[in-house]
Formats: sequence, structure tokens, C-alpha cells
Amino acid sequence: PITIARPAARRSLQARVVWGSQVVTVGGDAPVRVQSMTNTDTEDAIGTAIQVKELAQAGSELVRITVNTPEAAKAVPHVREQLDRMGISVPLVGDFHYNGHRLLSEFPDCAAALSKYRINPGNVGKGDKKDRQFAMMIEAALKHDRPVRIGVNWGSLDQDLLARLMDDNAARATPWAAQQVMYQALIQSALDSAALAVELGMSPAQVLLSCKVSGVQDLVSVYRALAARCKHPLHLGLTEAGMGTKGTVASTAALSLLLQEGIGDTIRVSLTPQPGESRTQEVVIATEILQSLGLRAFNPSVTACPGCGRTTSTTFQELAKQIDDFLRAQMPVWKAKYPGVESMKVAVMGCIVNGPGESKHADIGISLPGTGEAPAAPVFIDGEKALTLRGEGIATEFQQLVETYIER
Ligand code: SF4
Repeated sequence: PITIARPAARRSLQARVVWGSQVVTVGGDAPVRVQSMTNTDTEDAIGTAIQVKELAQAGSELVRITVNTPEAAKAVPHVREQLDRMGISVPLVGDFHYNGHRLLSEFPDCAAALSKYRINPGNVGKGDKKDRQFAMMIEAALKHDRPVRIGVNWGSLDQDLLARLMDDNAARATPWAAQQVMYQALIQSALDSAALAVELGMSPAQVLLSCKVSGVQDLVSVYRALAARCKHPLHLGLTEAGMGTKGTVASTAALSLLLQEGIGDTIRVSLTPQPGESRTQEVVIATEILQSLGLRAFNPSVTACPGCGRTTSTTFQELAKQIDDFLRAQMPVWKAKYPGVESMKVAVMGCIVNGPGESKHADIGISLPGTGEAPAAPVFIDGEKALTLRGEGIATEFQQLVETYIER
């Protein structure tokens, strides 16, 4: 027998990220959550709220915003207000570096409007100020009852810790040894900060961790080691993944390997948008990764063949795209109206070779006529041939059949 592979069970504690009545659980038996981050200037509250709304509507369940200046901190409650007015309840995560301790303590309205704080232990402070400034951020989290993410990044690693580990291990001997120590330092930095947060009164479940690097195999190795050493919920992401195809493929490869092992409770795909590309693309990719692995379902899936010399025209590619766009556009309404619609499968195929077979495996499918075939497109519903479409209006008629199927 062929046993279909399934992602291993996750084993972390469960955090709660809350805004009003919206509770997003992260970790434990909660679904793997999709996160994203704005690239607007947070001081522009309206522009930031609009982008948060777009990301949330694309499927982001948590949205992180930069909080880097007093003006940005002052704008955060306005961002929240705008979102509440628009009916967008997605929790906001504040991304802090260098001055988070000051911003969170001097702007309590900002601290209250955020649902989670990201702390980078690599730049929370230097020398004897470090622990005090870290403690100030944890105090804000405790006061406002917010979870935190200790987010370590190899681009901004705690240099004191790294230097100490390098000396301890005399690791400067070879580049390989130095790299090993750097990865140990990443993990150590996250775990030490998490332990300190717990010592200061945080519940371990409310302390999420991430250790981001930009190499696929490196990320997999670091997270395997991190997951073996703690039960904190883990946020996954390949940092600085890059642009376009390279960033998409690298993120998918890294995240899929870890998610399959049950490692990772939230994910972010960090893409550098290409000119004209929407920020929401990173959310689309993150949701596709989870859906492809069978971990979540966000949108009905459209199976389409690549086409080949047997295809008579581009009609089937156009139809596949039309159906995919149509289904995605309807989802905000359909999700509430037709529970389970996101798990539906539609097939749009180019000829008789694999068309009928693939269409029978879908909930509803169409096999368009290929070279030398009669100009007819059989439609299969629930595995049975239901009818045949002909003529110019095939695309419109098939879309109507899909809609009727979903309604029924
Ligand atoms: Fe080519 Fe037909 Fe296969 Fe599509 S289903 S790739 S048109 S042989």
C-alpha cells in the first residue's frame, strides 16, 4: 500500500494574538498562520491602513508594521482606528529595533493598539543597558497582556554574544567552524532572551521565536535545532529571500521542508516586490504553500494541464485563468456563505489525453477539445460526465456551471 505522506504534528505551545473579539491562536493545534509585513511609512496612517487591509483581504492573519520613530508610534493608534472603521480586525504586530523600549513605554496608546511586539535581541541595546531595555519591552507586553516574538536575524545578530561564543570555541580557525558558531549564536540569542522574558513574568506560550537566515539548507538546520530545544511557538521565514521566481522557490523549498516535519506555527514569505508587483503577492504565495502541503485550504484549487502540441488554441489557458480569478474574487463572500468551498477542486484541461481523467478527479472539470478532436467540451461533475458544451460561449457557460455547483 502507498501511504500518503502527511506533515508531522506540531509540538509547540499555543500563543493568543488578540484584537477585540478577533483571537488568532498560534502554535499547538492551531492552523499554521500566514503573516505579512507592510512596506509603507507607518507615519502615513492612512496609506499603512490601506495596505494592511489589502494584505488581510489576501489572507494574512497577522500583519506586521514598522514602528521606528516617535511619529510612527503616534500613528499606530490611527492605523488601528482606520482599520476598525473599515471592519478589518486583523491583529497588528509592531516591529521594533533599537528604540522599542522607549517607544513602547512613552507611547502607551501605541502599545495598546498593537496585538504583539517583535523584539530583535540583536539591537535591543548594548552592554549593561541591554537587559534593562529588553525588560522595558517585556514590561509593556505584561502590562498590555500581549505576546512577543523574539526575532533573531543573522543580519543583526547580537555581536557581543557572537564574539563571546567565537572566543569560547576558538572558532575563528576555519570558515566552517565560524559559521557553526554563528548558527549556535542565533539559537542561543533566541533561547536566552526567551528565558529572560519568562523570568520577567511572560508565559512561555506567549513568547514566540524566530531565527531567520537567507540560505535554504541553513534555515532548515537552524530551525531543526531550535525546535529540538524549546516548545515556544515558532515563526518561520527565509529572510531576504529575494525577488520573483528565486525568492518564491527558495521560500517554498525552505518552508515546505520544515512544515512537513511539523516545525513552524506562522510563516512569512519575505519577497522583494518587483516594480509594479503588489505587496499581497507574498501572502498569495504563503497561502499556496500551506494549501499545496495540505495544511490549510484558502481557495478552491484549479487543476490545469500545461498544454502541448495537442492543444488547438489558448482557450483552455484563458479559461483556467478566468476560473481561477473568478473563484478568488468570490471567496470573501463565499467563505462565509458556503462553508468548505475553499477545499473544492476544479479542472480545466486541454485535450482528451488527460482531460476526462483529471476532470473526474475534480469536483467539476472540463476537457476542451484538442487537435483532431470533435469541437465539444465534456463537463464532469462529481466524477461523472454531466453534459457537453459547444460553440463560442464555452467559457461563460462553464463559469456558470461552477457557480451553480458551488451554490448547490
Ligand atoms: Fe497536452 Fe492534452 Fe496533456 Fe494537456 S491534457 S498537456 S493538451 S496531452
